[in-house]
Amino acid sequence: MKEYMNEKGRIFDIQRYSIHDGIGVRTIVFLKGCALRCRWCCNPESQNYDIENMTVNGKVKTMGRDVSVEDVMKVVKRDLPYYSRSDGGLTLSGGESLLQPAFSSALLRAAKDMGLNTALESMGFAEYSVIEKDILPYLDTYLMDIKHMDPMKHKEWTGKENTLMVENAMKIAKSGMCKLIIRVPVVPGFNDTEKELLDIARYADSLPGVENIHILPYHNYAMGKYEGLNRPYSMGDAKIPETDRMEAFKKAIERETHLNCQIGG
Ligand code: SF4
Repeated sequence: MKEYMNEKGRIFDIQRYSIHDGIGVRTIVFLKGCALRCRWCCNPESQNYDIENMTVNGKVKTMGRDVSVEDVMKVVKRDLPYYSRSDGGLTLSGGESLLQPAFSSALLRAAKDMGLNTALESMGFAEYSVIEKDILPYLDTYLMDIKHMDPMKHKEWTGKENTLMVENAMKIAKSGMCKLIIRVPVVPGFNDTEKELLDIARYADSLPGVENIHILPYHNYAMGKYEGLNRPYSMGDAKIPETDRMEAFKKAIERETHLNCQIGG
């Protein structure tokens, strides 16, 4: 067995049969730990690296477990026939997978060894040298979040400035080592104006090789998770962006840039 199959990391979920977050049928592995604290986060159980309890439907569930790459790949392997019929494969999500670079690298490498398509859903919060060495050689599609172009507003709503992520987007695009798709959560009060979305879209349009941008409407499905974690839900009763508004944003982006804009992931 290859050495990297023994690499260990911490995850909180594995989701099979997903048709989002990459092409075809996919297995999504959710890694634990994130450097950001986005107010609208729909996976609050991903944020702390520590293993914690969350009450779900009245039952206490442990969120987080330590596993090896081999453990994960045993699950991934179960759906091989579906991947091969759909060009699907493995997607890493979180949290921010780049906070566990050796584990993420080994997972992507193992998937590539099986001939699977690989995708990473991440905001690019790591030194570029890590992304270049550990991730890109084994990655087909980078689904990269850019949430806002203003560093201070980004910090106010997520806890961190965006400088590192925005610079990494350019470096990843210039490397030409994988397909890069930019994703933007459309969040009420944060970035849900045409100007703010166009600022992001224009930057995405300036990234060499980037052709697609996904705009993802805010939802509040995770409200119960905050309750289950005994944490306040900071979005209050923020309104979910209406379909017509999302369509208008898409039209504006496609009018003002060369990008194809898709609503949803
Ligand atoms: S970057 Fe993603 S996982 Fe991390 S806090 Fe923000 S929304 Fe949640």
